[in-house]
Amino acid sequence: MEIKDIKKQLVKMLGKDKVLTDELDLMYYSYDSSFLTKLEPGKPAAVVLPTSTEEVQKVVRFAYENDIAIVPRGAGTGETGGCIAFKGGIVLDLSTWDEIVEIDAKNMQVIVRPGVIHARLNEALAKYNLFFPPDPGSSQMCTVGGMVANNASGLRAVKYGATEQYILGLEVVLPDGNVMVTGGMNARVIKNVSGLNLTKLMVGSEGVLGIITQIRLRCWPKPKARGIAMAVYDNLDDAPETVLEVYQAGILPSGIEILDGSAIMAVNQFKPQINLPDAEAILLFEVDGNPPGVDYDGKVIAEIAGKRARSVEWATDPKRMAELWEGRSITATAAARVRADGSRIFAGEDISIPLSKIADVLRAIRALGDKYGIKVVNYGHIGDGNVHTAPVINPENPEEVEKVLQLVHDIHLLAIEMQGSTTGEHGVGAVRRQYAELEHGLAVEYMRAVKLAFDPKGIMNPEKLF
Ligand SMILES: Cc1cc2nc3c(=O)[nH]c(=O)nc-3n(C[C@H](O)[C@H](O)[C@H](O)COP(=O)(O)OP(=O)(O)OC[C@H]3O[C@@H](n4cnc5c(N)ncnc54)[C@H](O)[C@@H]3O)c2cc1C
Repeated sequence: MEIKDIKKQLVKMLGKDKVLTDELDLMYYSYDSSFLTKLEPGKPAAVVLPTSTEEVQKVVRFAYENDIAIVPRGAGTGETGGCIAFKGGIVLDLSTWDEIVEIDAKNMQVIVRPGVIHARLNEALAKYNLFFPPDPGSSQMCTVGGMVANNASGLRAVKYGATEQYILGLEVVLPDGNVMVTGGMNARVIKNVSGLNLTKLMVGSEGVLGIITQIRLRCWPKPKARGIAMAVYDNLDDAPETVLEVYQAGILPSGIEILDGSAIMAVNQFKPQINLPDAEAILLFEVDGNPPGVDYDGKVIAEIAGKRARSVEWATDPKRMAELWEGRSITATAAARVRADGSRIFAGEDISIPLSKIADVLRAIRALGDKYGIKVVNYGHIGDGNVHTAPVINPENPEEVEKVLQLVHDIHLLAIEMQGSTTGEHGVGAVRRQYAELEHGLAVEYMRAVKLAFDPKGIMNPEKLF
C-alpha cells in the first residue's frame, strides 16, 4: 500500500488529531537515544497516538491485513533503536495513554495503561506508602510500557530485581488484532502458577510479540530508612572483593555502584566542587529498610570496606547522603564533557559481567579505549555486574565513528567471552541482535519459533532482537 493511502486510512480510522504525518513529526520519531539512530535514523510512514485498546486493535488489524510493519513506542528513551521503524511502517506511540486505572492498595497492586511515566507512578503510589522498585535512570521520562517491553531495571536491581519480578498480568494486542490477557482474566492475586507463564514471555519481548495495552503490577511497601556508605580504593581489585565480602556477611544493599578512575576524573572535571578523591575506584553502597537494620548494615559495610579501602564514610543524614551520592548521579552527564569537542554516545553501554571478573573487564575496556584512541568512562551497578561504558567521540568525525563502532563491537565480544551478556538492562533492539546466536546458540531458533507462532506475518517490530 502506498504511504499516502496508509496515512489516509489511519486518519479515517482514528481522526486527524491522533495521526501524525508531517515530515517534521516523522523526523522526530526517526530517533531514540541510541547512537545507531544518529547514524541511521528510521522514518515511519505515519505515527498514531492511540488511547484505547479498541484503537490499538483497529490499527493493528489494518496493518495485519495490509502487511504493514507496526512498531510500538513509549518515550523513545531506549538505547537500542528498539522503537524505530527502520523499514518504514506505522509507529504506535503509546506515551499519551497515561492513565493509572486503579491503585488496588488492599491487594498490593496497581493497574496502569502503558504510557504512564515511571516517576509519576511512584509519586501516586507514595500516598499509600507503596512503591514500584525498579528505578531506571530515565525514571522521569520512560513509560511503564517501555519498561515492561525492555524488562528495565536500575541501581536497585541488586536487591529488588528487574521489572519482570513485579508484573502480575498484561493485556496485549496481538499481531492479528486479538486481545490476550495474561496472568488470569480476572485475577487479582500476587501468587499464581496456573498455566504457561505468558506474562514472563511478554516482559522483555521488546515489542516483537504484541502491543502491551494494560499492565497489572505488584507494589512493595516503601522502606522507612536509608543510608549510604562511600569507600575509596587505591587498588581496583579491592572493590569487587569488598562487594563479595559484604554479601558473605549476609548483607544485601539496595544499591552498590562503582566509579572507576575514568569516572572519578570525569566528575571532578565537570564539577570540581564535588572533589571526589583521586583513586582507582569508589564504591557507593545504599542500604534501605527499617532504621535499626539500616544502622546495623551500615556498621558492617563500613567495617568490611575499611579492611581494604583508603577511606570509608557512612551517612544517614539526608544532606550528607545527597552529597555522597552526587558524584554518581552526575556521572553520565560528566562523561559527556571529558572532551570539549566530544559527545558521549550510547553504544556498548550496558554489558553485564560476572562479579568475579569485573576488575579484569574494566581494565580490558580501558585497554581497548587506548587501542582505538577513544576516551571511555566506566561506571555502573557493580552489585549485579552491570557495567556502563561511555565512549566519548566527535560524532562528526567519520574516522572516529568507524573506530568507536569497532571498539563497541570488541566490548560486546569481551562481555560474551567473560561469561557475561551484551546487555544487562537496556535490551537488544536493533543494535545487539547480531550477537544473538553467539550468546544463545540453538535457543535463538526456539525464540524465532515463538515469534512465528505469535506473528506469522512478521509485522510486529520487525528486525529486532534476533
Ligand atoms: C538517560 C537514560 C538513562 C537510562 N537508564 C536506564 C536504567 O537505569 N535502566 C534501564 O533499564 N534502562 C535505562 N535506560 C533505557 C530506557 O530508558 C529503558 O529501556 C526504558 O524502559 C525505555 O522506556 P521507553 O518508554 O522510553 O521505551 P521506548 O524507548 O519507546 O521503547 C523501548 C522498547 O519497548 C518497546 N515498547 C515500548 N512500549 C511498548 C508497548 N506498550 N508494548 C510493546 N512494546 C513496547 C519498543 O518497541 C522498544 O522496543 C536509560 C535511558 C536513558 C536515555
